[in-house]
Amino acid sequence: MITINEHYLKLQASYLFSDIAGRVADFQKKNPDREVIKLGIGDVTKGLTPASIDAFHLAVDEMADDATFRGYGPEQGYDFLRNAIAENDFQSRGADISADEIFVSDGAKCDTGNIQELFARNIKIAIPDPVYPVYLDTNVMAGRTGDFTDDRFQGLVYLDSTRENNFVPSLPEENVDLIYLCFPNNPTGSTITREELQTWVDYARDHKALILFDAAYESFIRDDSLPRSIYELEGAREIAIEFRSFSKSAGFTGTRCAYSVVPRECIAYDSEGSRHFLHSLWNRRHCTKFNGVSYPVQRAAEAIYSEQGKLQTRALTDYYLKNAAHICKTIADLGYEYTGGENSPYIWVDGRMGSWEFFDMLLNKAGVVCTPGAGFGKCGNGYIRFSAFNSYENVETAMSGLTAALSD
Ligand code: PLP
Repeated sequence: MITINEHYLKLQASYLFSDIAGRVADFQKKNPDREVIKLGIGDVTKGLTPASIDAFHLAVDEMADDATFRGYGPEQGYDFLRNAIAENDFQSRGADISADEIFVSDGAKCDTGNIQELFARNIKIAIPDPVYPVYLDTNVMAGRTGDFTDDRFQGLVYLDSTRENNFVPSLPEENVDLIYLCFPNNPTGSTITREELQTWVDYARDHKALILFDAAYESFIRDDSLPRSIYELEGAREIAIEFRSFSKSAGFTGTRCAYSVVPRECIAYDSEGSRHFLHSLWNRRHCTKFNGVSYPVQRAAEAIYSEQGKLQTRALTDYYLKNAAHICKTIADLGYEYTGGENSPYIWVDGRMGSWEFFDMLLNKAGVVCTPGAGFGKCGNGYIRFSAFNSYENVETAMSGLTAALSD
């Protein structure tokens, strides 16, 4: 008899985006003449840059010719891309990362979800609340949690991100082995200072723990005092794996390209306490289960690091940050408290009522769609997330509607 992995039965059905879609469809049916502007889902709206598109086209042409055609590539990514990443994203910023520590993949979602395969079932895991749900659900699937009661999975250590701690969680009071951190954060848009991140690095070193640092939104950082990579901090190479993505930095959400960094010194232990290098374990896993990102996509990603590519991708994130600034100003003028939006495309607003109540009010009065914070965890109750991924014109219209609705 074929039996299932029963841990899947513990998963909470993710109704968030289908609930949102259902409520929006219902609203549009009842109000066919009203415009609806979506500032909910975090997907980019602007096309790929000319630099990436040109490189993409050239590479596609190469694939059409027997002389330049490429079949299977290296699973970890082509050297041209790994070298460009190491030089531009790390070495130029003083972070000691080499090309052979970069693993190119088809998404930070897959990487942040798959990485837990390397670790034992009985480790203690610290997960932020609110959180990008992938970290949580993949550990539930792997059987590292108990049941879901009182809005939380038993057996996990939740790191509350609240107004009181400025949406940067404090160190856990009990010992943990694996720590998920994401900065700039999805959903709160909060950032972490060098000093704060150093305390996490020091904690991990003192407790033989490992930090999984999700930096999918680092390209939105404009404040140079903030760390873009955990490897800018002392002692991080032994205790941290970092995840990056071209999805939001260069519009690759539909094109798919990302990477993970696993430094050669990064270690974990077996049940006898012997040390093992995570680089070789991840390399083994990656090569066994993944056959590389397509050649044209890697060429399109490489082009981001050309002179023109850098200017064009910077203009992309600047565009969304201008949207974010407009959203922040409107929220502040209306007297609401918020965080994020400065070095992040997300704005986390205290709605002063239930998340879904605020969502419904905004949809009905202003025709604006946001994401209810409650969908990201218990600490998200009462908050809503705005995403800056839309056209500036739509953001302006949405903010005028919001002002009219909330000034009533
Ligand atoms: N990490 C965070 C925090 C995200 O918000 C997202 C996407 O929204 C991802 C990772 C996934 O990125 P990718 O498109 O590379 O899979």
